[in-house]
This record gives sequence, C-alpha cells and structure tokens, in this order.
Amino acid sequence: MTRVAVCPGSFDPITYGHLDIIERASKVFDKVYISVLKNSSKEGLFTPQERVDMIEEVTKHLENVEVRQFNGLLIDFCHQVGARAIVRGLRAVSDFEYEMQLTSMNRKLDSDIETIYMMTNNNYSFISSSIVKEVAKYGGKIEDVVPPYIANLLEGKFSG
Ligand code: ADP
Repeated sequence: MTRVAVCPGSFDPITYGHLDIIERASKVFDKVYISVLKNSSKEGLFTPQERVDMIEEVTKHLENVEVRQFNGLLIDFCHQVGARAIVRGLRAVSDFEYEMQLTSMNRKLDSDIETIYMMTNNNYSFISSSIVKEVAKYGGKIEDVVPPYIANLLEGKFSG
C-alpha cells in the first residue's frame, strides 16, 4: 500500500520551518502532496501560482514531493490524491487551539483521514510567514529563515 500524505498550508511564503516539516514527512510517507490552499481570511502577498512555483523550486531535491494548488475543502483534496493522512507542524501552545478545531472538523468530515502533528525543530519555532514578510518589508535580514531563492523573491516584492 502506498502511504500518501498531504501537507496543507498557505505558504505565503514557504519558510525553513515549513521545509523542515515537509522534509521529515517525505521520509515517513511514500508520497507527499503539498497543498497550497487559498485561505479566504488571509490576503496573500504572493499569488497561489507564485507560491506553487516557489515551493517546487525549493523542494526539487525531494523526489516524492509534489505541489498542487487547491481551492476547496482539504478533505476533498485528500480524496482526490488518495491520502489517508494530513501532516501539520506545531510551533507553540498558541497553535494548539486552532489546530484542534481544524482537526476536529476534518475528522467529522472524514474519520478515516488522520491528522498527524510534527513538533517544530527548535531552531525554527519562532518562524512564521507573517513575521518573515514583516521583516523583509523593512529590509531586515531573512537569510536564516527562508531559502535564498525565497529571500530574493521577497526582496523583489518589497523593492518595487
Ligand atoms: P495555515 O494558514 O494553514 O496555518 P501556514 O502556511 O501558516 O498555513 O502553515 C502551514 C503548516 O506549517 C501549519 O501546520 C503550520 O503550523 C506549519 N508551520 C508553519 N511555520 C512552522 C514552523 N516554523 N515550524 C513548524 N511548523 C510550521
């Protein structure tokens, strides 16, 4: 049986924190789909297609990882690609409440799909896409928190 997982998120933009979770998931599962979900409550800096392209670039060393854009219910995406697991990262206690709601709702929609949490790598626990954008906006150093390719694109967004 092929073990398929989905790593969902906004990835606006992808950070070393996300990448760490994706790399670890790719070792545990046979196939990992990164699902770039359009989050209606968050306005994006990058378009969903830009995010897909950026993630493809920085995950090209991972052979069993594929990136897809999806607008809709995560559970429907899982059915579409035959995934039995959703992988999410946990940074701090503050993530817990939202994640608990998300998992409970997804379990109601399909109890056969399991959500699995990976604890963040200590080095990345403080990184979020929003903080990275804020720092990049004001010209701060972001080399330690996003891959160079992403840092360049961020600088491009804020220099024009
Ligand atoms: P969402 O808007 O769905 O929370 P994000 O792109 O912010 O999407 O995050 C996608 C997933 O990556 C979430 O499970 C989030 O907890 C996790 N994540 C984000 N940043 C980190 C990090 N620094 N370390 C570990 N996991 C992270």
